[in-house]
Amino acid sequence: MIDLKNIVLAEVADNFRRVDDVAEQNTLKVLNAMRRLKISDAHFKTSTGYAYGDIGREKLDALFAEVFGAEAALVRTQFVSGTHALATALFGVLRPGDELVSLTGAPYDTLQTVIGHAHAAQGSLKEFGISYRELPLAGGKVDVDAIKHFLTPKTKLALIQRSRGYSLREPLSVADIERICAAVKATNPQCVTFVDNCYGEFVETREPVEVGADMAAGSLIKNIGGGLAPTGGYIVGKAALVEQASYRLTAPGMGGELGASLGTPRLLYQGLFTAPHTTAQALKGAIFAAGLFGKLGYKTHPLPEGMRGDIIQAIELRSAERLIKFCRAIQEFSPVDSFAAPEPWDMPGYADKVIMAAGTFVQGASIELSADAPLREPYAVYLQGGLTFEHAAIGILGAAQALEDSL
Ligand SMILES: *Cc1c(COP(=O)(O)O)cnc(C)c1O
Repeated sequence: MIDLKNIVLAEVADNFRRVDDVAEQNTLKVLNAMRRLKISDAHFKTSTGYAYGDIGREKLDALFAEVFGAEAALVRTQFVSGTHALATALFGVLRPGDELVSLTGAPYDTLQTVIGHAHAAQGSLKEFGISYRELPLAGGKVDVDAIKHFLTPKTKLALIQRSRGYSLREPLSVADIERICAAVKATNPQCVTFVDNCYGEFVETREPVEVGADMAAGSLIKNIGGGLAPTGGYIVGKAALVEQASYRLTAPGMGGELGASLGTPRLLYQGLFTAPHTTAQALKGAIFAAGLFGKLGYKTHPLPEGMRGDIIQAIELRSAERLIKFCRAIQEFSPVDSFAAPEPWDMPGYADKVIMAAGTFVQGASIELSADAPLREPYAVYLQGGLTFEHAAIGILGAAQALEDSL
């Protein structure tokens, strides 16, 4: 396995250099935003109660807006997850009678539950009279040419998922997002373009709002929290839209002007600062896994040299047994809960049973080395994260060894 490791590392050296280059540009982007906004120790002070006039919270919003090229941002630990941030944006902007569409085929599992059309779910958008249609992918890609026939004048919001999620389709590049948003606006200028940005942040040097998306949202315990954020989510975009979302997060009239930080500010600032580097570590882990498992005879998405639009590496393991073995090995090579054996379970918000390996410092944080998979054909495991490439490599080699040992 060690020989194989060195062969793979030699083959992917150019890809690693490209990843480093992106990390350097994004570090400069974040650093410049921090300098311009004069971030200071005073912004790290904790707030309690209603937290009116919390300058740390206000500055963090301004900082995220700057980094994402957006008019406004809502960055909060009160978002319990990425799904919550995405749902808050959808419920904030959509009104009864509006139509929501997905332009990237079936959305991520938990979003399907929020939307409520694929399967009934209490409190879903469907219950509030939001209709929904999805544009099927064409050969695994967004059917950009079909957008002009698909949208109607009453389409209020178009959901665009950047990452592959739990599917084998390719993630979107930022250039793809630019073309999709342009196609939407050419057909229906009023239609809000909203990007599910989970797992995509800092994979490239531009972000969705910079290329024409009206709004984007994601999780702080993925890329953008840099492995330091203890929980939370964010929404960025046009000021009017972010404001609408803020009334859904808290209450009409209150919006983003309340919300105690309870000791988290420094971690959110510092996490954003380290996020370009951490994302690069995770990307290198993904590239290495693609190289190694390709050599062991498994299909990987993407290939080691393939375009990366997110930090996820899918590996088709072709059986439930191998899936479980792989996840157990990742868990075994984790710094936390290494003794636990993950089992497939009915996770809230997911339709199929899901197995998850996440021996992480922040519970379930998938910017840390983690692997998960819905138990369904073709039994692909979705591997992501790694606070350090060294750890990612150790875990990936451990998983490969576990599969080889059981042959
Ligand atoms: C992770 C993820 C989400 C949100 O998931 P949470 O676990 O709720 O943070 C949404 N969409 C995609 C594509 C994701 O990868």
